[in-house]
Amino acid sequence: MQASYDVVIAGTGNAAFCAAHAARERGARVLMLEKAPEAWIGGNSYFTAGAYRVAFDSLDELVALLADPSDERLARTDVPPYPAADFLADLERVTEGRTDPVLAGVLVHDSLDTMRWLRDHGIRFQLQYDRQSFEIDGRFQFWGNLPLGTVGGGVGLIAQHRAAAEAQGVEIRFETPVVWLLRDATGAVVGVVVDGPRGREEIRAGAVVLACGGFEADVRLRTMYLGSGWDVARVRGTPYNTGEGLHLALEAGAEPYGHWSGCHSIQWDAGAPPFGDRTITNHFSKQSYPIGIIVNAHGQRFLDEGADFRNYTYARYGAEILKQPGAIAWQLFDAKTTPLLRQDEYTAPGVSRIEADTIHALAVALGIDPAALEKTVADFNAAVQPGPFNPAIKDGKRIMEHATNVAVVPASFGWTDLGDWHSLADLLAPQQDANVAIGTEHLAEDTQRTLVFGNGRAVATLGVEDLIIVDTDDVLLVCHRSRAQDVRRIVQRLRDRGQDHLC
Ligand SMILES: Cc1cc2nc3c(=O)[nH]c(=O)nc-3n(C[C@H](O)[C@H](O)[C@H](O)COP(=O)(O)OP(=O)(O)OC[C@H]3O[C@@H](n4cnc5c(N)ncnc54)[C@H](O)[C@@H]3O)c2cc1C
Repeated sequence: MQASYDVVIAGTGNAAFCAAHAARERGARVLMLEKAPEAWIGGNSYFTAGAYRVAFDSLDELVALLADPSDERLARTDVPPYPAADFLADLERVTEGRTDPVLAGVLVHDSLDTMRWLRDHGIRFQLQYDRQSFEIDGRFQFWGNLPLGTVGGGVGLIAQHRAAAEAQGVEIRFETPVVWLLRDATGAVVGVVVDGPRGREEIRAGAVVLACGGFEADVRLRTMYLGSGWDVARVRGTPYNTGEGLHLALEAGAEPYGHWSGCHSIQWDAGAPPFGDRTITNHFSKQSYPIGIIVNAHGQRFLDEGADFRNYTYARYGAEILKQPGAIAWQLFDAKTTPLLRQDEYTAPGVSRIEADTIHALAVALGIDPAALEKTVADFNAAVQPGPFNPAIKDGKRIMEHATNVAVVPASFGWTDLGDWHSLADLLAPQQDANVAIGTEHLAEDTQRTLVFGNGRAVATLGVEDLIIVDTDDVLLVCHRSRAQDVRRIVQRLRDRGQDHLC
């Protein structure tokens, strides 16, 4: 007999377990399907610190969430409030205005209630003293608006989720990837096809939740969407997030959305394996860089280590390192800062660390030209401004690099993404209603705003507008200009069919 559930969920990460709790509390019969073996339960969520960004107006609101509200350190703890308006402003700033205002509003305004809901479903919270505070004059000063995390980090998060879900009767099947979505005659999703230890099987469901991660563990998709060089990036988490869920959703008609060519990428130990290590988890992160300097293989700095608290810069700096020679960089710390380093990330067994008594000896050990590194360090030190140092606040301690003959010119720049045919047409024919022909003759009759890219064979159009027509020896593409970004879906389909020569 064909299995049937009210709700079927693909994945066993944080999103999947949240969906399972939400469905169970409404009385649904829930089945979770996990592609990975049981030893890899939890996806990327397992690898995290379990850090949660939440809007709050006073420390008391957080204390009410804590697993141990009697922690003796609380009396010596300062946590600046993080009002919803600040959270929203941070999202806007860090994404350079690309955040979706509706989704951001839900995320921010529901954040504290969501923490309460998670607590009521067995998730245990603590203040992240080790990662997000410095002890200054006997008080723990929190910085960066990220004080809350789960007890036991991501490992604890998944253990707590699993215990709560199983206690509520949620079933979990491992090594059972969702490989297809069942749809009825109207196109509605009515279940899934899985490929598990019992073979290929159809499972009917009242609702299907795809909580099965992104495509970051698939080298081909990573390179295709993020671009050149991303094939050599290391994956910090599970090897099982290879994008099937996204493809299944798109195949079923879901709208592509989000920032496809951007990603969260951090500085990660160069000695780490290609995918996450379940024992070391996120200790391969290298997050203390605001109190040191970062140099490339030529011994040169290439970014502003102290542009902001690390919470607001770290997810971008991995991409900056990928652009450097050899896609590698070194973080350098003075002995004075050693007590301030995140001890787990810089001293845990298995993480990389090289020490030397002089800059010269360090350069030799790193394989960097000693003269270049000595100059970089000397220039940096000479540029440091006087004043007190407090790593828990923006204390104004900074570098001012010396320059002569500086001029400031006000300017405004237009910007176009030439990554698609639509933008190319705009660039080549900025005047209204104009058509563009490249590589062929375009016989245009009653035709507006149409781009023709050909191989010599003439193209004739009549009574059409806003089209892109690409005529090559192997394939003819005709699409509306507004769908130019979606051409990648066709490319993906051709690749999935092994027809790469047509792409
Ligand atoms: C090292 C590290 C540290 C991080 N730290 C933090 C942090 O402290 N705070 C924070 O908010 N975020 C953090 N993140 C980001 C965070 O991990 C993700 O945003 C979050 O875990 C995503 O949860 P998820 O449930 O959507 O996906 P995941 O937790 O990745 O779960 C996806 C699951 O789906 C499974 N799956 C894939 N394909 C299929 C299929 N076809 N069928 C069935 N199952 C499938 C996978 O095996 C996996 O178990 C960190 C990420 C990493 C890698």
